[in-house]
Amino acid sequence: MRRSGLMMVAASVLLTGCAPASPVPSPTSDPTPASADLTATTIPTGTLFAPAELGTDERQEWLDRLARVATILETTDLGALDADWDGRLTLELPADAAGYAALAGSGGQQSAAVTRCSDGASRITLNPRVGSLEAGYLDTLLLHEAVHAATGSACTDRPLWIEEGLAEWLAIQHDPTARGANQEWLDHHLATSGVPTGMPADRQFEGTAAQLSEAYALATFAVTTTIEHLGTDAAMAYFAEPDAETTGRSAAWYLAALRAQYEPEADSGG
Ligand SMILES: [Zn+2]
Repeated sequence: MRRSGLMMVAASVLLTGCAPASPVPSPTSDPTPASADLTATTIPTGTLFAPAELGTDERQEWLDRLARVATILETTDLGALDADWDGRLTLELPADAAGYAALAGSGGQQSAAVTRCSDGASRITLNPRVGSLEAGYLDTLLLHEAVHAATGSACTDRPLWIEEGLAEWLAIQHDPTARGANQEWLDHHLATSGVPTGMPADRQFEGTAAQLSEAYALATFAVTTTIEHLGTDAAMAYFAEPDAETTGRSAAWYLAALRAQYEPEADSGG
């Protein structure tokens, strides 16, 4: 049934959400930040900060996941977007909600993870609420956040449709389930709201889990359409430094592609 299918998607997408990190609360009189409770393990592709009591097997699983995701990014052509990335990822696994809030800030409470800018470098912080979910979900979540980290999303000021669309564009290439959910949210948005009039606005990336999921799906479609028309090199250069003229062309391609898919009768002259 359509309805139950969508509800299942809502449950899974709720936890793949990713919010721009809000400012981290300023230090209180307590000189020990929550991250000090985490133990660092460093491998060639990054550093994992996790509770000392995390089991050896689970720690190794996260290190393997970190390495896999870093390798995917190394082999993905993001052009100018990740030119400043050193190939390493920093992942924090706070033990509890308080530790997560201390690192991610209050804005990340509803998100499965946030990628934040710390002294000009990106750090990925996982919400402990999702830490025990199935491996495939965590792989995709980390890949999504790793795109933010490698492209310095949190340290720059690009439109959210580019940031979130790019992260999902790569994540769904490696996860057929996420790709299907993305398509279903796109279909749902077009069926209920019709073809939009422009690129997804930043304000669309807030609200309910369903609204957020629709914004992600639209953004992914916009990024995909832009890459198809400009080619990878030019598209990545544009994403790195968006200009108004290309945004206008990109929006025209995006809207035309949506109309062609969802309003086919409009093209056939009736
Ligand atoms: Zn994101």
